[in-house]
Amino acid sequence: MGKKQAVNIHKSNLFSATNLIDKKKCRHELTADEIKFFVNGLLLKKVADYQMTAMLMAIRLNGFSTNETQALTEVMLNSGTIFDFQDPRVIDKHSTGGIGDKTSFILAPIAHAAGVKVPMIAGRGLGHTAGTVDKIEAVEGFRTSLSLDEFKKSLTQFGLVLMGQTDQIAPADKIIYALRDVTATVDSIPLITASIMSKKLAEGTAGLVFDVKCGNGAFMKTKSDAKKLAKGLMSTAKRYHKKSLALVTNMNQPLGNAVGHANEIQECIDTLKGHGPTDLTELSLQLAGAMIYLAGITKSLQAGVVKAKKMIQSGQALNSFYELIKRQGGNLNSLENLPAASEQTIFLAPRNGYIKSFQTETIGKMIQKLGGGRTTAGSQIDLSIGLFFHKKIGDKVKKGEALVTIYHHQNQKNVVENLLHDFKMGVIKLSSSRVEKPELIYQILENKI
Ligand code: URA
Repeated sequence: MGKKQAVNIHKSNLFSATNLIDKKKCRHELTADEIKFFVNGLLLKKVADYQMTAMLMAIRLNGFSTNETQALTEVMLNSGTIFDFQDPRVIDKHSTGGIGDKTSFILAPIAHAAGVKVPMIAGRGLGHTAGTVDKIEAVEGFRTSLSLDEFKKSLTQFGLVLMGQTDQIAPADKIIYALRDVTATVDSIPLITASIMSKKLAEGTAGLVFDVKCGNGAFMKTKSDAKKLAKGLMSTAKRYHKKSLALVTNMNQPLGNAVGHANEIQECIDTLKGHGPTDLTELSLQLAGAMIYLAGITKSLQAGVVKAKKMIQSGQALNSFYELIKRQGGNLNSLENLPAASEQTIFLAPRNGYIKSFQTETIGKMIQKLGGGRTTAGSQIDLSIGLFFHKKIGDKVKKGEALVTIYHHQNQKNVVENLLHDFKMGVIKLSSSRVEKPELIYQILENKI
């Protein structure tokens, strides 16, 4: 946590938001009671948003101990209703966030078709990454705000729910998440841990699968940080008696080919039909297989993956997806006509070579520049814009071949010019010599209870 400094204002034993911000600013450890006071104060509007964001930045810069992280998780979890379905088949997955990361829409129907009950409470866009809840809203009519009764009924009767956070489930995370999104305070292991675990523990699962993204498009840039985050998530799960599995996965290029909102939903439908991109298909099968295994439906992870494949081949997973859409008010006909921007501009390969690297976080920011991200908490996003990457790392390319299609509006010529320039200046790097295809899954960690 760095060197402690004398606390400027913290002279009395009385809690005040300013004193606690000062205490964290000066690198002192906060007690569980102080963290509770701060977060509950936020919920009661006695601590202002600007005080919370100052605290978040102090945490981001000065760190949070294991005890502090546990206390934050606990108070965020207890800020709302906590379910306990007492059913070993209730299993969910959560990703720490990446570019083109759309596996939820594929693995949840696969797992559901295989007999897992999936209570997925997901987030909106965060930092440079887009959110599951925003993406599914590209399907006309799909309701992501459900009451707790609807949530419970859908899970127990149908076995699959996909919804956003409500004011009743981990409401503290809902507020803090939106503030972190617009104040550059996302990339903090303790804040990510408390955010994910408060939501996921409230869902009442028996076990959790974590997809911990690692690389230049993830919040965790290095394998050691990603592993640290995976271990933190898993040890928190264990404290609450949940089984867990974590996959540390490559986020040095967009997952699949499509990045955006509506175009990612289209890619998921293609994948559920059995003709999705290789990396997206493979990762979705592994994660779904892990859920199937944790639910006790198969005896091993490998057998879970085999079962997951069958759910795609038989069309059962696609049916589960369609059923989910219908149950949550979505219009199935709208899948034929997802929001689409009117213009397309193609970035062509400037020379022969092999794709060497992507600046993946910049690609996430490009989506924001096109209107697909929030600039202030609560602002509207454009679901129709997007990017489609025709090539992946290691692919051979010929001069003049299409590398990226940009989906945009007519009045965005300047933004598009800037994106073309950025692609050329290194967002996509080419090499003259052959480049190895990168590993997709770096490590799988399992925690039994
Ligand atoms: N997903 C979350 O729910 N929270 C984070 O902080 C990061 C990813």
